[in-house]
Amino acid sequence: MSSKIKFQTPSGMHDILEEDFVYFDKILDAVKEIANFYHFQRIETPILENAEIFIRGIGLNTDVVEKEMFVFKTKGGDVLTLRPEGTAPIARAFIQHSMQNLPQPVKLWYFGPFFRYERPQLGRHRQFWQFGFETVGEKDPILDAQIIQIFYSILQELKISPVVVKINSIGDRFCRPYYKKVLKSYLISKKESLCADCRRRIVQNPLRVLDCKEEKCQRIVAEAPNILDYLCEECKKHFKEVLEALEELKLPYQLDSKLVRGLDYYTKTVFEIVEESEKGKALGALVGGGRYDGLIKSLGGKETPAVGGAGGVERIVALLKDKFPHLAKKGKKPILFFAQLGPLAKKKALVLLETFRKEKIPVFESLGKDSLKAQLRLASKVNAKYALILGQKEVIEGNIILRDMMTGTQEIIPLEKLIKVIKNKIK
Ligand code: AMP
Repeated sequence: MSSKIKFQTPSGMHDILEEDFVYFDKILDAVKEIANFYHFQRIETPILENAEIFIRGIGLNTDVVEKEMFVFKTKGGDVLTLRPEGTAPIARAFIQHSMQNLPQPVKLWYFGPFFRYERPQLGRHRQFWQFGFETVGEKDPILDAQIIQIFYSILQELKISPVVVKINSIGDRFCRPYYKKVLKSYLISKKESLCADCRRRIVQNPLRVLDCKEEKCQRIVAEAPNILDYLCEECKKHFKEVLEALEELKLPYQLDSKLVRGLDYYTKTVFEIVEESEKGKALGALVGGGRYDGLIKSLGGKETPAVGGAGGVERIVALLKDKFPHLAKKGKKPILFFAQLGPLAKKKALVLLETFRKEKIPVFESLGKDSLKAQLRLASKVNAKYALILGQKEVIEGNIILRDMMTGTQEIIPLEKLIKVIKNKIK
């Protein structure tokens, strides 16, 4: 028995079609414009990295490393992974290219695909695109505010609103261990009421219990000790200055002491930006980021403070599609349609189309069609204003017919004058 094979994209992965690229490009343009203004330099790290970078950087007991990495062994025995996020590879690149010798801070941006083995659902894919901004080499809290403001401005440029910045400080290596201890003993006292995942997290990564989505855990967490009460003087001062800068910028922010983010490398500031419509909330955070002063050292570099974040392209595209559905349909309107009749004209068409390309005159064509009627039907369908018709006779005589698609009137133009005539018509 023969069964029909129907290949599909792997679960949680999708093709990006022309109608999606309208939105992808809109986001890329907004990102590029802001990156250029603030003098961030573009970087693209490999899709594959040594898995150890993420194990050390993000942390062994995080969801990303524990459950979500696509890891495999190469024929040479290296353990590589499809990159699940962009910050650890940038830290690797910073060390590898001795960027500590450049004037600090080093400001980098990227736009590319990332991979996490998550349960596919709205706003959650296994291959998704992120754009990111990283300011590496300085510890001033103003830079945390600038990174947040950059993401906020991109969303504003894209007319995504209303959005709110959720922000927290998770302390540093001096004050966080004590908070962890206090939190741990609180959670142990409530252990029986937590979900199975959180019971496990108490030992391995108690901070993660704070952002568990289970209702019963949230009830326990609502009464948990607040991390902001346990910050050391240095972290308190840093956080205060970040908030003051956000106020100066008039960015709408909400303190969220339960925001811890999933990755171990964060220190001090962590933030997310959420769109506040029902759909926005269902999609989850559009942007996430924070300060990571310990990451570069943990990957073998010098102690280097840094702050950054990443925005999720698919989530923003989903909102843009709702807000601006006409964008996908717009496309580029051709003014000219090139129709050919007969084998001689078909061959000549290739040469003429190249001339149009070099002169930067956009033209539609359908070289695979032989019937003139079918070609003119297509010209009407794509709303071309003029059709150029090249037949056997025209090729031999060195002419071409120019047809006004609205009125149906036609004129014969010598080929050597064609470009000049067309340029006048489409001016
Ligand atoms: P993160 O690296 O987890 O901080 O994610 C930064 C942003 O990337 C999030 O705020 C989302 O917008 C987006 N993102 C993260 N994971 C996914 C995913 N699995 N599918 C789609 N977008 C994602």
